Amino acid sequence: MDMDKIVSLCKRRGFLFQSSEIYGGLNGFWDYGPLGVELKRNLKEAWWRDMVAGHDDISTLPGAPSSYEMVGLDCTIIMHPQVWKVSGHYDLFVDKMVDCRTEGCKGRFRVDHIPSSECPLKPSKCPGAHDKCSLTEPRDFNLMFKTIIGALGGEEDAAFLRPETAQGIFVNFKNVLDSSRVRVPVGIAQIGKSFRNEITPRNFTFRSREFEQMEIEFFCHPSESRKWYEYWRNRRMKWWQDLGLSGSRLLLREHHADELSHYSIGTADIEYAFPFLPEGEFGELEGVAHRGDFDLRSHMEGKLDPNSKPNLQVQLGADGKPVHKGSGRDLTYRDDITNERFTPHVIEPSAGADRGALAILCEAYHEDSAPDDKGELQTRTVMKFHPRIAPVKAAIFPLVKKDGMPEVAQELYRALKKKFPVQYDEKGAVGRRYRRQDEIGTPYCLTIDGQTLTDQTVTLRDRDTLEQVRVKLADVVSEIEQRVSG
Ligand code: ATP
Repeated sequence: MDMDKIVSLCKRRGFLFQSSEIYGGLNGFWDYGPLGVELKRNLKEAWWRDMVAGHDDISTLPGAPSSYEMVGLDCTIIMHPQVWKVSGHYDLFVDKMVDCRTEGCKGRFRVDHIPSSECPLKPSKCPGAHDKCSLTEPRDFNLMFKTIIGALGGEEDAAFLRPETAQGIFVNFKNVLDSSRVRVPVGIAQIGKSFRNEITPRNFTFRSREFEQMEIEFFCHPSESRKWYEYWRNRRMKWWQDLGLSGSRLLLREHHADELSHYSIGTADIEYAFPFLPEGEFGELEGVAHRGDFDLRSHMEGKLDPNSKPNLQVQLGADGKPVHKGSGRDLTYRDDITNERFTPHVIEPSAGADRGALAILCEAYHEDSAPDDKGELQTRTVMKFHPRIAPVKAAIFPLVKKDGMPEVAQELYRALKKKFPVQYDEKGAVGRRYRRQDEIGTPYCLTIDGQTLTDQTVTLRDRDTLEQVRVKLADVVSEIEQRVSG
């Protein structure tokens, strides 16, 4: 699979553009075009429907230890700075970076992106374009974007753009429990923008500085957290598979014990073999982590004790050093049936909407051959999106622009448009119209032809099998509806 071809199709057909392109672009920032926005919305809506809105609160889903509830949340991007102090991001959310001193390179690299044979402490080969290199000592770089609140604000009014949506959920745990009558086990879900000042944004949207996350914090009894971890790990893997990311390019990778945080029973990454990675390498789409009671406990008590850093609205102790204090609020949970009080454990499935959309674009890209109007086989580019995710669900063509065909086609177009995104196209030979739709992944094309006018049926052509069947005009809306909902 050729990444350059995918990138060029994305731009040509309006899936993705470089942000601020007319000014030369901005590294690490991407805009979604008319088709890209539909694709990403479909992905986020599928997630929300399957995980939250369509979740069955009262039945036990396959593999789940018991029934559970799911609710949603939408928190602000800028939060009280103490949140980031307590979560550890203020002190610890750093990447180690090195600079190359070599003239003509002057590259900046993340230490963990340099192969170990090219250790920056014993440099032998520059990860840039040079044989010889001279790398600086690694130093910390905090990935949070900083901003100032208020017109007269100074450094003491500094705040941060959230690097993850998760913290908004933890700090609202009590609000949600007190206001919505839900009981543990319960998942709280959020989709939203996150920001990380990545040292080396690259690989198209894979590593961006502004991106969207789809996160669940699932709160459960500590004694059941291992079972819930296994449940979520398997459920999330299956979800990606059901959207069409199946086969050998998708991998569930369980972290080794020595990779885990001290509070964690397990973490698994769901990874995809993106075509820009070297053969055999995978990139993370989603992390599913067992987080114990670390987050709720930190927001109650504050546990971190890193070395003192300059104060940013962060509370100071008598010695003038920052106090790593939690909110002081009680974030424990009392089970009203057993009367037991405990600090719930958390399982966190944290997925990237942009990486998900990118994996779906890569997986969908195919080149094969299809007959043209003269019946000769021609190479075609076809995006084989799952119908649920496809930006345009169907295209409607009158075979010719006469004999009343456009009128019938337009009427059908309007009936379908009320339900989902569809396109009407009457320009050029039908073969070329099919080709245009194949390239944007439209699963079904409907052609109004001479026969339609006599027997009220239309041709329904399937993007993947190229099979053509005749469907009654009156049944088309329900037929397409049923095919795209699966
Ligand atoms: P990586 O190791 O690739 O930097 P991470 O382990 O830091 O990723 P998490 O903190 O677990 O990522 O974030 C959860 C999800 O958010 C990731 O699985 C990914 O899909 C998405 N994500 C994280 N950073 C970025 C980014 N810079 N650009 C796009 N998506 C991202």
